[in-house]
Amino acid sequence: MEQARQKRPIRKVVIAGGGTAGWMVAAGLSKSLGRRLDIKLIESDEIGTVGVGEATIPTLMNFHHLMEIDEREFMAETMATFKLGISFENWRDVGLDYIHSFGTTGTDHWTAGFQHFWHKGRERGVAGDYGDYCLELKASLQSRFAHLPQNGMNYAYHMDAGRYARFLRKFSERFGVERVEGKIAEVRKDLISGDIRALRLDSGVELEGDLFIDCTGFRALLIGETMGVGYEDWSHWLFNDSAVALQTKSVGDAIPLTRSIGREAGWQWRIPLQHRVGNGLVYSSRYTDDEAALATLQANVEGEALTQPRVLRFKPGQRHQTWKGNCIAIGLASGFLEPIESTSIHLIQRGIIRLMQMFPSDGISQADIDEYNAQAQAEIHHIRDFIILHYKVTDRRDTPYWRDAAGMKVPASLQHRIDLFRETGRVFRVPNELFAENSWIQVMLGQGILPAQHHQTADLMGDEELAHFLGGISGAIDRTVAQLPSHQQYVQQYCAGT
Ligand code: FAD
Repeated sequence: MEQARQKRPIRKVVIAGGGTAGWMVAAGLSKSLGRRLDIKLIESDEIGTVGVGEATIPTLMNFHHLMEIDEREFMAETMATFKLGISFENWRDVGLDYIHSFGTTGTDHWTAGFQHFWHKGRERGVAGDYGDYCLELKASLQSRFAHLPQNGMNYAYHMDAGRYARFLRKFSERFGVERVEGKIAEVRKDLISGDIRALRLDSGVELEGDLFIDCTGFRALLIGETMGVGYEDWSHWLFNDSAVALQTKSVGDAIPLTRSIGREAGWQWRIPLQHRVGNGLVYSSRYTDDEAALATLQANVEGEALTQPRVLRFKPGQRHQTWKGNCIAIGLASGFLEPIESTSIHLIQRGIIRLMQMFPSDGISQADIDEYNAQAQAEIHHIRDFIILHYKVTDRRDTPYWRDAAGMKVPASLQHRIDLFRETGRVFRVPNELFAENSWIQVMLGQGILPAQHHQTADLMGDEELAHFLGGISGAIDRTVAQLPSHQQYVQQYCAGT
């Protein structure tokens, strides 16, 4: 707990940085509080943005809904495609694949999740693959998509990050945000309170503010360099610290899946957009080097390169505090978890919603700061565990990278979940956790953990009844999927407004 502070109404907000985080903050604040605030956003074309971050999860739809963003317009302007899940290839072992899809699998009983009925069905030889009972997964396998009534299909998007920032800029400027081009050369602090007072640009222009949002990316110019907030490093659990990214021309139709392909010392992503494909390799510099990583990526992309390969460095972890004094970090400045589950943009959105819920209009209270930081920490810890799971639970032993991942000691919270599932088939979602039971189950089964037992409720069903129950679910899914158009065709028609 820090000392009680003097309260000052917040009217002038300065957002430092205009990547996805900066412009999402600008959109969120201006749409909700724009008439009461003077909002300025500083960005530097010369520095540019990280330029990746193109796969999302379904929660982005909530953000767009709050902003009243029209989906068709968003998709057309960002060349977006639909995403139904992630295809994990070579993660359990080389040559083995599974899909972590959105949506639900089967039907739960209040005492026992669907996985228990599936487990029993498998024992009796009447169950198919676990994925046969998930609509989104079956549709993704056949590359089909349509909007179904009553949110019958749970989906997210792949989108062009640069176009998304421009789309949100237009949106924010309509709500009064002023963009200022330039490099921040100096951050001026109030010597007594320690708060940030103004940002001086290299042009000499000085921007004063009451509240500063640090969206300067990995540089963390305000929260790290100026406010001196340290960083908790998680590289003992998440070995990757580098990535090389490359855009290529599309080859064939866009599929509604992000591909995540395990490689010798990392993994490769492939994100299909309407006009191109985003590719990259995330890797650990402890186990390979830039040249080898680039060679692996180049050997495994389809289509002609549209950009020069770009190497990025990062440290997995989080800031000890994301809000300190009158500075709040959102986006990469606040911490980073590698993108295997596309969670960064979600965390940006969560930061914005939390800020709007706790907006300190009448002045900053230390209690708000403490609450904000506690919520942000809990949120990222759950996601961290879920991401570590993918590495810990692997049968791969072919390279030192995978052997070390399988052998590492993981956080106790994660080890407990793995043990519980392995021994009993049970999974419980922690309150306010992003990933629900179905996500944990898909990844744990996909990575090769088959529970030792199932819940007794499943035994109350006779074999014939169980076969009928399971067949009823998969049959209905197959009939629905057969009627869906191809994803490629649907995206083209939807964006063209036909
Ligand atoms: P940036 O995009 O780096 O923006 C920083 C801004 O600050 C820029 O405008 C820059 O010009 C400005 N700036 C910095 N210093 C100064 C200065 N001195 N003066 C003025 N301006 C300054 N997330 C997902 O959700 N899904 C994904 O699939 C995904 N994939 C990723 C893959 C990789 C390899 C990496 C590294 C990240 C990925 N992410 C992903 C994360 C995602 O890219 C970021 O969360 C998102 O782009 C937000 O970045 P940002 O706005 O915080 O930072």
